[in-house]
Amino acid sequence: MVCPFCLHKKTMVYNSRSSKRRHAVWRRRRCLKCSHNFTTREIVETEGILYVLQDKKRRLPFSHSKLLLSLIKVLDHRSDDAAYWLSETIEEKLLSVGVKKEGLLTKADIIEACLITLKPFDTAAFVKYLSYHSSSLDARTLKRELKRS
Ligand SMILES: [Zn+2]
Repeated sequence: MVCPFCLHKKTMVYNSRSSKRRHAVWRRRRCLKCSHNFTTREIVETEGILYVLQDKKRRLPFSHSKLLLSLIKVLDHRSDDAAYWLSETIEEKLLSVGVKKEGLLTKADIIEACLITLKPFDTAAFVKYLSYHSSSLDARTLKRELKRS
């Protein structure tokens, strides 16, 4: 790990902890040249693990960027930090869902994970997200989500 202060290539880890969620580890590091401390975070890269079914034949790699952009769009009244942290939470949920489905997610899986996470956090964002994505949901799921709101 390169020091972000002086770009020295050697740092030492002096503290490490796993997050309460399962897929992340934080490390406190100290540069061996300038002695600045900084934090790094190791997370599971979903590339090669999660895919999104487009139709019966095609699947595309899950895109964290697309997820983040969709959240920034509905959380435009909040800081971008909120969208970032929510995207991490949602990706965690999707990893759990994906494991049970051999890594293959549907768009409905992603939409549902977003709605479940947005609802207790920000009602306005929940409603906005639901309105943007309602056409991708089947009638039963849409009804269930509307009851949730
Ligand atoms: Zn340094």
